Amino acid sequence: MSVENFTMLGAADIASAVRAGDASPTEMVRASFNRARDIGAGHDELNIFLHSDQEASEHEAKSMQERLQSAADIGILAGVPVAVKDNIATLGLPTTCGSKILAGYVSPYEATAITRLRANGALVVAKTNMDEFAMGSSTENSAFGPTRNPHDVRCVPGGSSGGSAAAVAAGITPIALGSETGGSVRQPAAFCGVVGVKPTYGRVSRYGLVAFASSLDQIGVVGRTVDDAALGLESIAGFDKMDSTSSDAEVPVYRLSALGKPAPEVGAPDTEAMRIGRNPVALPPPPSAKTLEGIVIGKPREYFPDTLDTNIKDLCERALDRFRSMGATVRDISLPRSPLAIPVYYILAPAEASSNLARFDGVRYGLRVDSGKGLKAMYESTRSQGFGPEVTRRILLGTYVLSAGYYDAYYKKAQAVRTLIADDFRAVFTSGVNAIFTPTTPTPAFPVGAISDPYEMYLNDIFTVTANLAGVPAISVPIGRMRRLPVGGQVITAHFDEYTMFRVAYALEASLGQEAHQ
Ligand code: GLN
Repeated sequence: MSVENFTMLGAADIASAVRAGDASPTEMVRASFNRARDIGAGHDELNIFLHSDQEASEHEAKSMQERLQSAADIGILAGVPVAVKDNIATLGLPTTCGSKILAGYVSPYEATAITRLRANGALVVAKTNMDEFAMGSSTENSAFGPTRNPHDVRCVPGGSSGGSAAAVAAGITPIALGSETGGSVRQPAAFCGVVGVKPTYGRVSRYGLVAFASSLDQIGVVGRTVDDAALGLESIAGFDKMDSTSSDAEVPVYRLSALGKPAPEVGAPDTEAMRIGRNPVALPPPPSAKTLEGIVIGKPREYFPDTLDTNIKDLCERALDRFRSMGATVRDISLPRSPLAIPVYYILAPAEASSNLARFDGVRYGLRVDSGKGLKAMYESTRSQGFGPEVTRRILLGTYVLSAGYYDAYYKKAQAVRTLIADDFRAVFTSGVNAIFTPTTPTPAFPVGAISDPYEMYLNDIFTVTANLAGVPAISVPIGRMRRLPVGGQVITAHFDEYTMFRVAYALEASLGQEAHQ
């Protein structure tokens, strides 16, 4: 295996080459850093990374090499470079959540997801840029400047895990971790032409994930292919005694090899080609006409409104045709309460955030602005200087909907509607539907600075936020391009049925092949 091909390698290829001794972890780390340099991941260019330390990563690679030589099995991600969203605690690199209030903060402990990645042989190469405290859909809310979309540097990469999606799209790492509260892995994955998965609520431990809205938060995975995302999820999923909300449900093998197929070949993401709308990627083996036999795919009418852009609608229809040609049945369904998801989410998430973010007070973490006028004044100046405008808006909104006079009218009502939204999904999945297919986003990536109205920005989440409210797993896969920009389609399944979700996503990826990127 040659390092020259680094950007063409899937995580499974890297791990098997490293385990066979055909490549070394150090070579992989260097290849990743070289790619980041070549593509311009730095602050003044794509602005993908917030923190990285090549020397420390190489040091980690060296100890990995020693573990390998002592014949230990170092796992399914042996030598795979991984980028991590900056709200997931890592030892050795800062964890700032894209916020000034945590500038320079280094966590004294590590997230379980990171410990598991490392135990499986992965090498953390960078912390990625994000909307401050994961609040946003474009990465423009980062206190450290926006990330640019590698497919078109004039555009946003989506958010809030924009840095993670851009790192994978630019070929710097085959896998990256992100986090989801309302679509923050799937939406940027769609905008960057890569795969993004949000697992079932409880599937992955959140120990070490900085809390935004605890009833919704999950760590998710970005991958260049479905197989990369599956490998990533498999390595971090499962019960953790440090997170009482993590589930002890068994974690099946999600990898392609488990379906008896070789992993797809990944072509090199060439930025020049990306910018002109040609991105040579996966050419997986053609699926058989019976690949999805017996699978019923629901097409919810609320996710295909008359106002949906016709290009996106056509790409979704093509995907649905592929499902049919692989033996699946496509059924029209309804999730009648889904159109209420945006107001419900933008009441519940800020309410929880206002409480979770109370801990950033200038005493316990990071920034402290103290002009010697007493404790209350110190809290006020630290928080007003440390938080950016969107975070401040959410805290105000959250505090308002929880206040005595408005609790019943807003918070309580939103909780009740959330239950109804979850009931709609349950009803569909108990009526013989195995998976739901929808567009991931109503539009492709938009230009940096184009959306200044917060409400307009919130509407980006219209198709993703329901899976978070219901707690069900969902994945975004590339389904084609519009105006040369990537478009994603979403597959949603029942609680803890990530297996079916991956199976349907693999089949779609294989069936579309190169067309998913044209
Ligand atoms: N865009 C949504 C928000 O701004 C979702 C964020 C997320 O999933 N972290 O809240």
